[in-house]
Amino acid sequence: MLKIGCHLSSSGGYLAMGKTAVSIDANVFQFFTRNPRGGAVKPLNLEDIKAYNAFAEENGIAEVLAHAPYTLNACSDKAHLRRFARDTMADDISRLENVRSAMYNFHPGSHVGQGVEAGIDMIAAMLNDVLFPEQKTLILLETMAGKGSEVGGRFEELRAIIDKVMLQDKIGVCLDTCHVYDAGYDIAGDLDGVLAEFDRIVGLERLHAIHINDSKNPFGSRKDRHETIGNGSLGLEALKTVINHPRLRHLPFYLETPNELEGYKQEIALLRSIYEAE
Ligand code: FE
Ligand code: FE
Ligand code: ZN
Repeated sequence: MLKIGCHLSSSGGYLAMGKTAVSIDANVFQFFTRNPRGGAVKPLNLEDIKAYNAFAEENGIAEVLAHAPYTLNACSDKAHLRRFARDTMADDISRLENVRSAMYNFHPGSHVGQGVEAGIDMIAAMLNDVLFPEQKTLILLETMAGKGSEVGGRFEELRAIIDKVMLQDKIGVCLDTCHVYDAGYDIAGDLDGVLAEFDRIVGLERLHAIHINDSKNPFGSRKDRHETIGNGSLGLEALKTVINHPRLRHLPFYLETPNELEGYKQEIALLRSIYEAE
């Protein structure tokens, strides 16, 4: 069965997200761990998480993907922002350890003129500070569009970060279809070729999640503006090929398209309808 869901508001807590997911026929979902543009976080509610864990088990909800705030930048040029990134990630992970089948996705960072090499070093240093051996939560580096000074627009950059991480079994990758297409990986024209390149450089065994988005901008634009499914430069056929690809079809897919809940429900139904039986 296709694992498909979307980004949900976390304002009502975990159980509320689980119920919302079920109501739109999603069996996975994503959410922000805290205010995405600030960093403020609500008190940890273990009762809610416990209730959610039971609900998820009963209702067949698989991997949930917690998204770090956009303000988390491990390779800022300001020490207090690097500290904020490290403390935020450490706190997010410790909370997520309570949540059933949780993974944590973050944007590697923007080096703000310090250079890709320096950025990679700082991102890996943060990961080496916060990851711990007993940790269950897998940490995913998101593939980026490469706008501005973003690190992670090239597969080689993700590889370089992973190479510097000590606890390598704690780290993986989340591929965003809009981002990689905008970054210049032609998943519409040559998905097999892009996946072969990903496999050679990063390793497909490191790929644990897909953000399934169409793109408002053309191939290679380095823009990062998501479009609803089938209405962008990727198009429905390309996205159909992605969800059905033998190397990808078992992964959880998360929609981050510009939609309200009803739109997400329709996109989930659409993608389920074009998912082919094995
Ligand atoms: Fe993201
Ligand atoms: Fe994304
Ligand atoms: Zn994006």
